[in-house]
Amino acid sequence: MDSYIFDLMETQDYENIFFCQEKTLGLKAIIAIHDTTLGPAAGGIRMWPYESEADAIKDVLRLARGMTYKCAAAGASYGGGKCVVIGDPKHDKTEVRLRTLGRFINRLNGLFLTGVDVGTTPEDMLVIHQETPYVVTVPEAWGGPSDGSQATAYGVVQGIRACLKEVYGSPDMQGRTIALQGIGAVGSHALKYLVEAGAIVTISDIDQERTRLFAAQYDTSIASTEEIHSLKVDVYCPCALGNVLNDQTLPELHCKIICGSANNQLGDNHHGDVLQARGILYAPDYIVNAGGLLSNLDSLNPGGFNNQRAMEQVSRLYNSMENIIAISKEQNIPTYRAADVLAEQRIAAIRQLKSLASGKV
Ligand code: NAD
Repeated sequence: MDSYIFDLMETQDYENIFFCQEKTLGLKAIIAIHDTTLGPAAGGIRMWPYESEADAIKDVLRLARGMTYKCAAAGASYGGGKCVVIGDPKHDKTEVRLRTLGRFINRLNGLFLTGVDVGTTPEDMLVIHQETPYVVTVPEAWGGPSDGSQATAYGVVQGIRACLKEVYGSPDMQGRTIALQGIGAVGSHALKYLVEAGAIVTISDIDQERTRLFAAQYDTSIASTEEIHSLKVDVYCPCALGNVLNDQTLPELHCKIICGSANNQLGDNHHGDVLQARGILYAPDYIVNAGGLLSNLDSLNPGGFNNQRAMEQVSRLYNSMENIIAISKEQNIPTYRAADVLAEQRIAAIRQLKSLASGKV
C-alpha cells in the first residue's frame, strides 16, 4: 500500500492531521497534532503561500513537533500542534475565511489551542475568537496576555543568568559584556533588563535610526551588523534572525556564551557540535525564547491572564537552562541535544504518571 502521509506521521509519531477546506471560499488549512501527552496541543496559525501541498504538510509537521518539545522543556502542561493556512497573508485573508477557520478549530473542542504566527496578527485572532474560545493571543482587554515579547526577553535574560553561573560561577550581570543583535520587540526589552542589571551592552540593528535612539537612551555602544557576532564579549545575544551560527560566523565568534531569542540560530545541528567542541556555551533557542509562549498560555488559567504568575513561570527558564547544562555535562552531549533529552524525559515521566493514575501499570 502506498501510504505517504501515514509514513510521514509514523516517522515522528504524530497523533493527527486535520485537513480543512471550504471550496466556496478557497480556504485550505492543515492542523497537525504531534503529541498531547502533556495536555492539549498548543501552536500558532501560520499563513504562507506554500508552493505545494507537500511543502505545507512538511512545514506543519515540523512546526507541531517543535511545539511539543518547546512546551515540554518549558514545563508547560501542553502538547504540540500547529496550523498552516495555504495562502498569501497580504491578499487571501478575509473575515469569512478566518471565521471559517475558527469553526474548524472549534470542532476540535479544545484539542488544539492557537495564536499568532508568521502571517497572522492579534487582530486576526480576535476575528477567529468570534467562532471559538480556543485562541490565546488576543489583546489584554479580551483576557489575553499583555506583551509576549517582554516575557520572551525576560526568559532570555534568565537563560543568560544560568549560563553566566555555569561559566563564571555567578549569575550576576554586573560588568558582564553583552553583544545584542537586533533591538526589535524582544531585543529592546532585553536591552532594558540587561542595562538595569548592570551589564555593559553593545547593540546592533539594521535600522540605524532605531539603533541610535536606543544607544542614546541606554548609553550603550553601537557595533555594525557585520561585526556584532564577532565582538570579544562574555555573551552574544542574537535577537534578530535565524541561521546566525553557520560556517561563516562560527570561526569569527569570540564570546563564551550564546543566548538569545532568535529562532533556529543553528544553521545546522553540526554547528551546535562545533560550539560544544570550542567550549562556547550555547543556550538552545527554543528553551530560552519560550517566555512569550508561557505568557500566552497563562491566559488559559481559570480567571484569565495574570502577569505576575506568568512572569513567575517564565523565571523558571533559569532552571530549565540549568537542567540542560547538567544533562549536557552528564551525557557529554551538546546543549542543543540536551534540550531534546530534557523534553523527552518530561514527556516520558508524565506518560508514566498518567499510566499509573489510570491503573495500567
Ligand atoms: P522584530 O521584528 O520586532 O525585531 C527584529 C529586529 O532585528 C528588528 O529591529 C530588525 O531591524 C532587526 N534585524 C533584522 N536583521 C538584522 C541584522 N542582520 N542585524 C541586526 N539586526 C537585524 O522581532 P522580535 O519579535 O523582536 O523577534 C526577534 C527574534 O526572536 C525572531 O527571530 C523571532 O522569531 C524570535 N522570537 C520572538 C518571540 C516574541 O515573543 N516576539 C518569541 C520567540 C522567538
